[in-house]
Amino acid sequence: MNFELVIGLETHVELNTESKIFCSCGGHSSPKEPNDCVCPACCGMPGMLPVMNKRVVELAATAGLMLNCEINRYTTFDKKNYYYPDLPCAYQITQLNHPICVNGCVKVKTSNGERDIRIKQIHMEEDAGKLVHSSSSSFVDFNRTSVPLIEIVTQPDFRSAEEVVTYLGKLKSMFVSSGISECEEGAMRCDVNISVREEGAEEFGVRTEIKNMSSFEAIERAIKYEAQRHMDAIEFSTEELVQETRRFDDVSGKTFAMRNKETEADYRYFPDPNLMPIVIDDEWLEQIKANKPVALDEKAEEYLAQGISDKEIAMLLSEHKIAKLLDEVVALGCNAKDAAAWILTDCAGILRKAGLKLKDLSIKAESLSYLIKLVESSKLNRGAAKKALIAAIENGADIEKFVEDNGFLKEIDDSFIEAVIEKAIESNPQAVADYKAGKEKALMAIFGACMKELKGSGDPAVIRTKLAEKLNG
Ligand code: ADP
Ligand code: MG
Ligand code: ZN
Repeated sequence: MNFELVIGLETHVELNTESKIFCSCGGHSSPKEPNDCVCPACCGMPGMLPVMNKRVVELAATAGLMLNCEINRYTTFDKKNYYYPDLPCAYQITQLNHPICVNGCVKVKTSNGERDIRIKQIHMEEDAGKLVHSSSSSFVDFNRTSVPLIEIVTQPDFRSAEEVVTYLGKLKSMFVSSGISECEEGAMRCDVNISVREEGAEEFGVRTEIKNMSSFEAIERAIKYEAQRHMDAIEFSTEELVQETRRFDDVSGKTFAMRNKETEADYRYFPDPNLMPIVIDDEWLEQIKANKPVALDEKAEEYLAQGISDKEIAMLLSEHKIAKLLDEVVALGCNAKDAAAWILTDCAGILRKAGLKLKDLSIKAESLSYLIKLVESSKLNRGAAKKALIAAIENGADIEKFVEDNGFLKEIDDSFIEAVIEKAIESNPQAVADYKAGKEKALMAIFGACMKELKGSGDPAVIRTKLAEKLNG
């Protein structure tokens, strides 16, 4: 029998916030000692009330935008009730009915080609604490309770372990590079839902869920083991498959049943009466969109198609700020390849001389695109544009103002250029004579005099041609 693997993922990611989701205790990176970052609210003391951390909404929505989701403008919290010693309130605040993001999509490229993985939803929730066991006792550490998480739920669209691991790697690099999460050990955890079906079958098979996996390598091994178990069960009736939650044992490389799959009803979900619905209005959403980091790997392909080299792409994308600058300059109508050269050659050169790095570039996209467009349309020559860049980078000058103040943009009609050329010829008789006697190089002196007079305006190529015509004719 030929089988097809069907996998759906629920991925929990700890958000990189300064404080917890519903209280002012320090976030995921703060604690040094167990129970360092706890307060009556996140320890579940009676009568304490949650207060929503705005940053969590912004990071969750940003993650959603990066995964091509729709952002729900009306989003609410629910209580998911269960008892466990690492959950002091005996309920987790999460989102059931109105999650913040829905209907996303991520492209995943493996040896099998590129496939779309649909994102069902992303919701915000709080993490639980940690239990620490010794041989004689168990301890509870509440540092992690109420650390903000997003849970990213995919449709059952994966067809191989390779796709799963590629997808997770993509999420990780996206979130780390954009500062959404540090995704360090244990900060990104997956529940892996697996079923198999006969190739060509429409119906899904019985699924099992392997809980709480964090190493990519273990995820791959667990999927392979579990898929084989399902196939054996179907083909050789080795056991009866039931929908259940399982755990993967790293040492034996096997999965073991933990409990029957709980259903929604088991958790007695109900809307959290202590938290108001959150409404994301147009203005807020626009602000979140404006601050959204560039999705690096997708950009890389776009840039490659526009003729930017691999090496340049690596440099551009190594700094988010620079990737974003390029993106904005291109959005303002500049050619991507040209804009990349302006950033990596001209700006980077000026920065280097000033002892600065590419990441120190703080020029506005509007200003850079203004310069590039003037040069592209021959209204300003490269030398003048470069002077403006130097002034901006070294002294923080306003580029538009600098160009105007220095008269770089003086309206130059043909008759004005003619007059400038005439004047340069008249005042450089020796150079003219040399040129006429066959010294090609002498043209440069006269040309230089023209450019000086034009103060950087005018297209050098046009002026040089006109000058040569005049002297030869
Ligand atoms: P539940 O509410 O039981 O958690 P969901 O519909 O939210 O179920 O699905 C949980 C995860 O299981 C999702 O990632 C989904 O893609 C995945 N999933 C659902 N059905 C299957 C299946 N037959 N095989 C593999 N994964 C599945
Ligand atoms: Mg679920
Ligand atoms: Zn707290």
